[in-house]
Amino acid sequence: MQTIADRLLYTQNLIAQATKNAHRPANSVKLLAVSKTKPVSDLELAYAAGQRLFGENYVQEGVEKIKKMQSLRDIEWHFIGPLQSNKTRLVAEHFDWMQSVDRAKIAQRLNDQRPVNLPPLQVCIQINIDDEASKSGVAVAEIDTLAAHIATLPNLCLRGIMAIPRADADKEAQKNALAAMQSIFTDLKARYSTIDTLSIGMSNDMTLAIENGSTMVRIGTAIFGARK
Ligand SMILES: *Cc1c(COP(=O)(O)O)cnc(C)c1O
Repeated sequence: MQTIADRLLYTQNLIAQATKNAHRPANSVKLLAVSKTKPVSDLELAYAAGQRLFGENYVQEGVEKIKKMQSLRDIEWHFIGPLQSNKTRLVAEHFDWMQSVDRAKIAQRLNDQRPVNLPPLQVCIQINIDDEASKSGVAVAEIDTLAAHIATLPNLCLRGIMAIPRADADKEAQKNALAAMQSIFTDLKARYSTIDTLSIGMSNDMTLAIENGSTMVRIGTAIFGARK
């Protein structure tokens, strides 16, 4: 049986190979371990194997894990799930990054609730790149307005964009969505000096995402196994 350490190493190797094949600099793609629904003991195994970036989708669950693992000071916690506005305080108080900002109201609340003793919350705008009714994220036409708003908020730092392309798309459609994200990223990066993060790529499309400029892949299943 493969351990979490084995699967982590295998994933790191896949990322390194894809980065090289895409003629990109070594270590230009970060690995976010998506640990939603997995027990703290699994996260500790990944930590022991060297993993430092963890992503959680559910606020309550994420905050519990952050508290249980607070002695491990060098972990960077990313919130990557949909967020109701009445839960923003928990994210503002406990997470380092919030990747799924999709409206001004959420951005404003996170800014207002970020404790003064913490560094600014690092944020990405989530984009609904395939325009799916079921998915959160801003429409492409609304990105500029939201980015401009976030840039005025002192307790947030706009780091980039994130998307979850359609899971059922064929290869060509998948590629188009990732390429569209890369083009939006390049455009925003030219206008905002803090932007350096293109968060695309999950277990089933990480190679394609790296070919399309991903700087952070978010990997759950390939590291921790299938979720129930
Ligand atoms: C669950 C999830 C992932 C990880 O998906 P896998 O297919 O398990 O790698 C990545 N990003 C987000 C936003 C998720 O919700």
